[in-house]
Amino acid sequence: MDSPDALPPVPHMSSADFRAAGHDLIDWIADYRERLAALPVSSSLAPGDVRARMPAAAPEQPEPFEGLLADLDRVVVPGLLHWQSPRFFGYFPANASLPSVLGELASAGLGVQGMLWSTSPACTEVETHMLDWLADLLGLAPAFRSDGTGGGVLQDSASSSVLCALIAARERATAGAANRRGAQATGRTLVAYASTQAHSSIEKAVRIAGIGSDNLRLVPVDAALALDADALAAQIAADRAAGLEPFFVCASVGTTSTEAIDPVPAIAAIAEREGLWLHVDAAMLGVAALCPEHRDLLAGCERADSLCTNAHKWLLVNFDASLFWVRDRRALVGALSIMPEYLANPASDAGAVLDYRDWQVPLGRRFRALKVWWVLRTYGADGLRALIRLHVALTADLAARAAAHPRLALAAPPGPTLVCIRHVDGDAATQALLDGVNADGRAFITHTRIDGRLVARLALGSAQTQAADVEALWAAVAAHA
Ligand code: PLP
Repeated sequence: MDSPDALPPVPHMSSADFRAAGHDLIDWIADYRERLAALPVSSSLAPGDVRARMPAAAPEQPEPFEGLLADLDRVVVPGLLHWQSPRFFGYFPANASLPSVLGELASAGLGVQGMLWSTSPACTEVETHMLDWLADLLGLAPAFRSDGTGGGVLQDSASSSVLCALIAARERATAGAANRRGAQATGRTLVAYASTQAHSSIEKAVRIAGIGSDNLRLVPVDAALALDADALAAQIAADRAAGLEPFFVCASVGTTSTEAIDPVPAIAAIAEREGLWLHVDAAMLGVAALCPEHRDLLAGCERADSLCTNAHKWLLVNFDASLFWVRDRRALVGALSIMPEYLANPASDAGAVLDYRDWQVPLGRRFRALKVWWVLRTYGADGLRALIRLHVALTADLAARAAAHPRLALAAPPGPTLVCIRHVDGDAATQALLDGVNADGRAFITHTRIDGRLVARLALGSAQTQAADVEALWAAVAAHA
């Protein structure tokens, strides 16, 4: 082996080069954001086109940063769906406000690993503080605060949030036996419930937690596509009669297809009566409770065991930042806490701190709370309320236009940020509308199906969307209707 002195130096970036490159990158991002409105929203590249612009093998020698930046324009931008475009109306938004981008950069710059309180107390405590602030801003029950029985944590996604909720529920239902012997090896068959419209992450969590897709009951919905609470009660009774063990129900506040809102108070009453863990998936709409006039969206959530809403959708925090609260943290921590000797430390031993590795699947965790903090401070809660109010008003306006159009029909009751439409001439005409709107790049929309019929989703909430952008969307829709 060579002696260390004989080895070539490691070509680290100098802090002077980092300063220069960093300034160039910030300029590039600012320029990109400024020209977004002029770019076609979606990419027209074919599969493989992006890779074809890249060298076949990784570089052996260091390259200057200018080349990296140039390849953002040459390789990356042509292959992007521009999620930050003001005329992005697809899926649900994934807002990345500029203060959030700076918070992300600061987090990477600090480069800390906050798996335990002791591995960076600031990483844990700022996060706890943010989740308490947001619990108050959304009007959650005091029990969801860290100084109550529960507390909040930043997960990477709503999918991880529901997985952790499910694992905590499994822990509570089996008094830990499922953790020791495997979910169904306890000799009991645990059953979970959600509506037919619930997000696919519920089924994924059920699979990962070892409950099994066959033991997830997709409960029928009413005319508004919200879970039918009577059907839930009947299904639970039938399952109990069959010797099964209902343990978990997920209510959706804003389904992905249509923003249907399940009747949380009625579901909470059933969950309490039957001893089920109630998780509320409010991934898109939960943050609207920042506005007092939208607080009723979270009615009944004070009786939930856990709740999630994504700051990385509508709250201007860039992906990933899913806000997840539990009303009683014991089951969650009990299910996920394993303390190997190499992580033992006096603060954890004393039980004096929160260790967020016990609230999530991975061990390691980055400083996500910084970007949440910076967004809250830069916009203020009032600034965020202004965004929510603007988008809700624009959505109502769009829904009214769609309802009045002779060749369009509302496919579902409009949600706070979502209008679902179909062409009165049927699926082929709806498909032509979708293709037509997306083809010219002036706006971007996506689809769903309701009762087997094709539906175009017009989803608002992108940070920069203004009335003129909705006007452009409507012009495109009307032109292809
Ligand atoms: N739940 C709902 C209602 C959603 O709309 C989504 C995504 O759009 C999810 C869960 C999953 O979100 P994530 O990507 O954070 O896992």
